[in-house]
Amino acid sequence: MFSGKENIRDLNVSQIGEFLISVGEKKFRAGQIYEWLWKKGVTDFGQMTNIPSGLREKLNELFFIDGVNISFKISGKDKTTKTLFQSFDNLNFEGVLIPGKERVTACISTQAGCPLNCSFCATGELGFKRNLNSGEIFDQVFKLNKLSEEIFNRNLSNIVIMGMGEPLLNYNNTMSAIDHITSPSGLGMSPQRITLSTAGICPEIKRMADDDAKINLSVSLHSADNEKRSVLMPVNKKYDLNSLKEALKYYYNKTGKRITYEYLLLGGINDSGEDAVLLTEFTKITPCKINLIEYNPHENDSFASPAKEKTEAFMKFLESRNLVVTLRKSKGQDINAACGQLANKKQ
Ligand code: SF4
Repeated sequence: MFSGKENIRDLNVSQIGEFLISVGEKKFRAGQIYEWLWKKGVTDFGQMTNIPSGLREKLNELFFIDGVNISFKISGKDKTTKTLFQSFDNLNFEGVLIPGKERVTACISTQAGCPLNCSFCATGELGFKRNLNSGEIFDQVFKLNKLSEEIFNRNLSNIVIMGMGEPLLNYNNTMSAIDHITSPSGLGMSPQRITLSTAGICPEIKRMADDDAKINLSVSLHSADNEKRSVLMPVNKKYDLNSLKEALKYYYNKTGKRITYEYLLLGGINDSGEDAVLLTEFTKITPCKINLIEYNPHENDSFASPAKEKTEAFMKFLESRNLVVTLRKSKGQDINAACGQLANKKQ
């Protein structure tokens, strides 16, 4: 559809300036164009009203904007709102708005599909299509922020990069989107309110530390037993718990930032007393917080939610070891709000 055209959001402001000079236009327009793209979130050159129409036409001839649209949205009883985004090349990926008492959190995707194929995840079933561009990651935040204003009458307070895909397998685009989300010339949100969740891509965890990324890190652990984790998350065969431990220690020593662990409680699989002991052992390597999540079953599913008493015992054990633990109730169960469930349904 855009053959021959370049994605303008692949250019930084000085590259836009160079282009403008090369076609005999004024360089200062670069800042204006940049602002339209990254602050006002336009997806059409025609909307850049302070740019002369001749230049808008020139831009339209040579470039395209990889804007995403909300093709479908649905809200649950608890007001959790799930959106299906569609890319310029008709790929589907998901975002979720999650209201809390004093916050609205957006959960966004970094890949269309996912190559990691975790056994409990509906996204894995979709296979991997491609990495999302930084503009496509940025747009999800921009659009969910607008939706939050419409539905909840307030801006987003937090962002979790926890939707479809493994963000650290799309490192450059994810970090570039975060730059635009946090920069004063973009959306100006605080990096401290952004959490990136990884399945455990060890070299990139270290890279985050080396790059001094200011966002928070969360690790989808789900089991502290190597064999069990490899079954649940095949990525563990490549980066096992020992290498994960080493990468997390490196991250903590360099950044001093507390690590959050996500632990999905799957009935009869990882919710035993022994699992809790192993989790305690693993997480003592650095200061941390543990989010226990009750599993949200989806159609044709072989996993079940844990029994209430098992969840309570698991949580109590961790607390008795002085760990900071929260129990996240599944939100939006009535609208397939877990990762990949809506896109799967659409597909
Ligand atoms: S849980 Fe995350 S990493 Fe695993 S398959 Fe799903 S999207 Fe990918």
